[in-house]
Amino acid sequence: MRSIEQRAVQAYREQFLEEPAIIASAPGRVNLIGEHTDYNGGFVLPCAVEQRVAVAVGAVGHESGQLYSADFRELCPLTGKRTGSWADYPCGVVWALTAQGHEVPLFRATFAGDVPLGSGLSSSAAIEAATALALDAFFHLGISGKDLAVLCQQAENGFVGVNSGIMDQYASLLSQAGMALLIDCRTLEAEAVPLDLAAAGLTLVVCDTQVPRELSATGYNARRQTCERAAHALGVKELRDAHIQDLDRLSGEELKRARHVVTENARVLEAAEALRRDDFVEFGRLMYASHRSLRDDYEVSTPELNAFVDLAAQFRALGARLTGAGFGGCAIALIKSEGAQALVESVRQHFAGRGFPRPIFYTFQPAAGAEVVR
Ligand code: ADP
Ligand code: MG
Repeated sequence: MRSIEQRAVQAYREQFLEEPAIIASAPGRVNLIGEHTDYNGGFVLPCAVEQRVAVAVGAVGHESGQLYSADFRELCPLTGKRTGSWADYPCGVVWALTAQGHEVPLFRATFAGDVPLGSGLSSSAAIEAATALALDAFFHLGISGKDLAVLCQQAENGFVGVNSGIMDQYASLLSQAGMALLIDCRTLEAEAVPLDLAAAGLTLVVCDTQVPRELSATGYNARRQTCERAAHALGVKELRDAHIQDLDRLSGEELKRARHVVTENARVLEAAEALRRDDFVEFGRLMYASHRSLRDDYEVSTPELNAFVDLAAQFRALGARLTGAGFGGCAIALIKSEGAQALVESVRQHFAGRGFPRPIFYTFQPAAGAEVVR
């Protein structure tokens, strides 16, 4: 058992003075390439990070279900009502399961996680996925990983009230160690693509720039609307259906935004091809190209994100780009393992010198998706 899973078990023993029946955990994720493509019906290519949320589940001996977070040190009732607390995520999963006609008897559960909250690695998908998988095992629901992911998305959209796509939950539930996950956001088909970085002596570095994403909601909505207008102007359902030669018929902002989406979708497919032949050099080149497109055409980068990518290039990273919606948040680099620490140190110094916020770094290998461990 991983130490985070042991922490969930320990919390269960302390809270409920019993052994849990089921222990499961699910990872956070990072998107390797394919940004702002999801709501255009396109492709994304995330992988799981090593940080996870673990859950220990057992039966209740009395009337009410209970949820305990070892991180928040808080015991919450299992309810069908939104309370605005962390418990909304597991309660939302129960709500979504019930809405789909599944029988979910009362239970109690403890949670422990080390996915950083709200920093772009999707701790919310991790807690949802861990909960869904554990309940599926505990109550013998027999739901597929894909269907659990859709249920988790419904929990986040319909219960918690956050409008997110399917990528986070898919990545958390369906990823495999040493693999990335190519997701078609229109058909919801997903395919594992090899990403054995350890064998190649490579590592992924995530830099959380700690820049608050204040403008992200308005900027994000504006981008979505422009994409819809561009698709309409081209007479296609979504920009996924547009071709590069169609773009001549657009101009101004619509042209720039659509050009990013059309070229980014092509890059994701090329990136998956590159990974299938272990061509990390080509993969990295596509990451840099993705960043330039997000910076110049989609205009969602920031000085901090650009500084990270420029430094990564100086430190001979194979690839680097902003990841997530942009407007702050995280960037990622693919680099030789022995060079990662030097990059981190240099970014720290550079950011301090320019008066940027103090960044936080995570170094990892593509990790396993959600698992029932006992
Ligand atoms: P992100 O998904 O980017 O990390 P969100 O705001 O979507 O950020 O989700 C973070 C929320 O998920 C937390 O505020 C908390 O409610 C819940 N959460 C994540 N990890 C845990 C955990 N280990 N224990 C309890 N709740 C958690
Ligand atoms: Mg989230």
